Amino acid sequence: MAAELTHTSVNDGWFRERSTLWPGQAMSIQVKKILHVEKSLYQDVLAFESTDYGNVLVLDGVIQATERDEFSYQEMITHIAMNSHPEPKKARNIFRLLHETFQNPTNAAIPLTWYDCANNTLSHLVSPHLQVLVIGGGDGGVLREVVKHNCVEEVVLCEIDEAVPRVSKLFLPDMAKGFEHSKVTVHIGDGFPYLEDKKDSFDIIITDSSDPVGESLESTLNMIDILSYLVELYLGPAASLFQRTFFELMKNALRPGGIISTQGECMWLHLPLIKEVHTFCRELFPVAEYAYTTIPTYPAGQIGFMICCNEAGRDVRRPLRRWTEDEEDELCRYYNAEVHEAAFVVPQFKTVTVADN
Ligand code: SAM
Repeated sequence: MAAELTHTSVNDGWFRERSTLWPGQAMSIQVKKILHVEKSLYQDVLAFESTDYGNVLVLDGVIQATERDEFSYQEMITHIAMNSHPEPKKARNIFRLLHETFQNPTNAAIPLTWYDCANNTLSHLVSPHLQVLVIGGGDGGVLREVVKHNCVEEVVLCEIDEAVPRVSKLFLPDMAKGFEHSKVTVHIGDGFPYLEDKKDSFDIIITDSSDPVGESLESTLNMIDILSYLVELYLGPAASLFQRTFFELMKNALRPGGIISTQGECMWLHLPLIKEVHTFCRELFPVAEYAYTTIPTYPAGQIGFMICCNEAGRDVRRPLRRWTEDEEDELCRYYNAEVHEAAFVVPQFKTVTVADN
């Protein structure tokens, strides 16, 4: 009989999430069974079955996803960006279609709302064209959400650690099903160098990264691990994804009218980091806004997104494209058009209030 798995963050049947990123507090989840323990090339990987949150994926001691509440994060980091993109090529195609059909020489004056309606009825006549990049996101949840948009031609996922998709396919099948879609291409590698030679390549970039510090207070260490642990203690694999240079690379890789959506941390815990990222985003992009979602198993129950657009005047606070209510019911468990707008309403924390662009 195989020996029962153990992990230093699981004691007396409870997982405890400790990190210097949230000092003095620790989320606990009751564990039914430890499913997987591994020290990958980049991080400590743990999967367990919980009593009330389904299966849980933990990297470097930090909860990445639970089956019970992951949809809130995956839907919001994805659909706010996707539905803020105008699909200009599709619009052009529809204008051409209308022009050819009605021989209307003034077609350029047709109002936006008019062809939005046409979008719904004529979309089958227009080929999908949006190029989407996901950086991180190795559990497949963001992929699952991106491919809900028929306008997507291809979605590339660049994940640094092959262990994350492998373990997610075993223990988070409802998220990992995102990998099965024919529009998905997977690249295993660091998102930072991946972007270096990409120019005008993507309409939407979603960075679903882990936290910037890969510290695991309760990682099991042996002598072989010690060097990589010391490096990761202060610089986890995601640290570079919160730096200005990375946002410059994303900007460079965006096509005109492009949108980025990045994991933007928690207002209650990381205001200085949010302020820093927001400040350089407003220097780099004409539009840069912080939105957020609620989610019980992320620290303090809240996590945000930095939503930036390279086209001045674009109002990302309101969905430019909307699903019908029936489509929202069918496709989403958290996101809808009203939640999209509400996500940008922030409390009096001055540092995340968005000034005029
Ligand atoms: N939603 C989660 C959260 O906020 O806690 C994070 C999801 S998890 C799938 C994030 C993924 O980013 C991990 O699989 C990690 O391996 C990956 N990652 C971290 N640094 C990366 C990098 N430099 N390039 C690509 N992927 C990276």
